[in-house]
Amino acid sequence: MTAPVAHPGPDGVDLVLDTDVLVLGGGPAGTWAALAAREAGAAVILADKGYVGTSGATAPSNTGALYLPDPAQRAALIAKRWPGTHGLADRAWLERTMEISFRRIDQLADKGYPFPVDETGQTYRANLRGPDYMRFMRKLVLEAGVRVLDHSPAQELLVDGEGTVAGAAGYSRQQNQRWRVRAGAVVIATGGCAFLSKALGCNVLTGDGYLMAAEAGAVMSGMEFSSVYGIAAAHASVTKGLPFFWATLTHEDGSPVEPKGDRATTIASAHVSGRTVYAKLDKADEAMRGWLRRSQPNCFLPFDRLGIDPFTQRFPVGLRLEGTVRGTGGIRLTDETCATGVPGLYAAGDAATREEIGGASTGAGGPNASWAIATGALSGAAAAVFARTAGTGRALRAIGGAGLRPSDGGSAIAADEVVRAVQAEMLPPERNLFRTGAGLDASRDRLDGVWTEIAARPLSGDPVRVREAAAMAATARWIVASARQRPETRGINRRTDRPLTDPDQARRILSGGLGRVWARPVPETTVTRSGVPS
Ligand SMILES: Cc1cc2nc3c(=O)[nH]c(=O)nc-3n(C[C@H](O)[C@H](O)[C@H](O)COP(=O)(O)OP(=O)(O)OC[C@H]3O[C@@H](n4cnc5c(N)ncnc54)[C@H](O)[C@@H]3O)c2cc1C
Repeated sequence: MTAPVAHPGPDGVDLVLDTDVLVLGGGPAGTWAALAAREAGAAVILADKGYVGTSGATAPSNTGALYLPDPAQRAALIAKRWPGTHGLADRAWLERTMEISFRRIDQLADKGYPFPVDETGQTYRANLRGPDYMRFMRKLVLEAGVRVLDHSPAQELLVDGEGTVAGAAGYSRQQNQRWRVRAGAVVIATGGCAFLSKALGCNVLTGDGYLMAAEAGAVMSGMEFSSVYGIAAAHASVTKGLPFFWATLTHEDGSPVEPKGDRATTIASAHVSGRTVYAKLDKADEAMRGWLRRSQPNCFLPFDRLGIDPFTQRFPVGLRLEGTVRGTGGIRLTDETCATGVPGLYAAGDAATREEIGGASTGAGGPNASWAIATGALSGAAAAVFARTAGTGRALRAIGGAGLRPSDGGSAIAADEVVRAVQAEMLPPERNLFRTGAGLDASRDRLDGVWTEIAARPLSGDPVRVREAAAMAATARWIVASARQRPETRGINRRTDRPLTDPDQARRILSGGLGRVWARPVPETTVTRSGVPS
């Protein structure tokens, strides 16, 4: 296969490249996809909105992953997590994810990743420290010969006359220039959507991949499972929940906060009734305090900066929406190669639905990190195979709509205004966590109004933000449409007007469409065919 090549571009495009596989997004999913495609002999370009190694949800965090060598451990994990999936996960995908995650984590060790060593001399491999994990992945992809385009968000896909995806176009922030890559296949690994809630690592996660995939004809699944809120000190963006296991929650007057389900729901209930919640991590003993500080150092930085001792002093807590990053909604996969149903297009990591492993619950706490590794590896390998069959010299067209090519024209709308309008539906727990049928209908109407405007009129503002605003609006509409199709409480889809789980609704909900958004249940939950792990 050929190395990526550059040649003069069409009007208005400064950088034009050809490659076999183009990977969009350079978090764990994208970097594993790029490595797997290189292993399969493909020339690979990897474009990221930020800097590969520091961008995305994993890079600033500490990430637990599934590292289970023993089949008995894997069976025990499935047995433990299965009830929480509420009947919507897929055992074969869970098994595949654990197997590939185990082998690829071992590969990291073989390549020299410095896993911590315990007192018996054993390496501990079930935890990947985000900053050095992603720095290591950057080194591996560069050593493997992947061409990396940093600070170069993709904005739209390119398709041939048959609708086969054959590249993407985007914008290089540092060069202030447009880029276009023709490719034999494309992997979307652009992460989830957290609606610019200021949760750590999520500033780049605006659902761009969903919008690009939908414009090519891909379908979403599980978008109703998107209302995960992370707990953080009110003055901080670090939403790691672990330290809050040892928290006492109180109101302003010192009275205890009455539990209302999980901790985030308890805090949200108090916020909705207009009360501030304070936390003190005073349930941790001395040994635990030391361990927490050592294992989660980034959680304590915001306290140290303000001179607060969170173990002895109370502090106000806030919630930050993590949307589909710790929810499970995303692009539907049609088989175990991570195909999307659109020829030439694959999806991996948080860009893909994680219902396969998490069902109706969050996949954070190990499964998501392993899913990113597994689907990255599978999609990269499959994209390399697909690229071998792709024709050369095809005429391509760019298919981006809202935010790039308004249908009518007229006066411009500020992209930041669109972002605020979408956030008004998605960020407040009273709308997105405690859902009701009437509330969802009202959100749908307001979001439809936003979409009508942005599809027709140009958006003004930062050249990247204009497309992010459109992606966030599209994502919010699929979320609302899917939640309306699930009039029950199941996992992280909470309906205050339908508090019970309805056994007849144990099926997935697909969604899609742009001008006219649709959502509908599918009768079967299993999409997996038997396959050999990559
Ligand atoms: C605070 C926090 C803690 C977590 N802890 C855990 C844990 O302990 N265990 C666990 O299993 N999971 C955890 N998760 C979830 C885990 O971080 C994600 O599942 C994982 O990062 C997904 O990897 P990804 O590569 O799909 O996405 P990301 O790591 O988010 O990477 C996406 C990449 O795509 C890029 N991108 C976005 N848009 C574009 C575009 N238009 N063009 C090009 N590039 C683009 C971004 O810049 C980014 O680099 C946590 C999440 C959060 C927020």
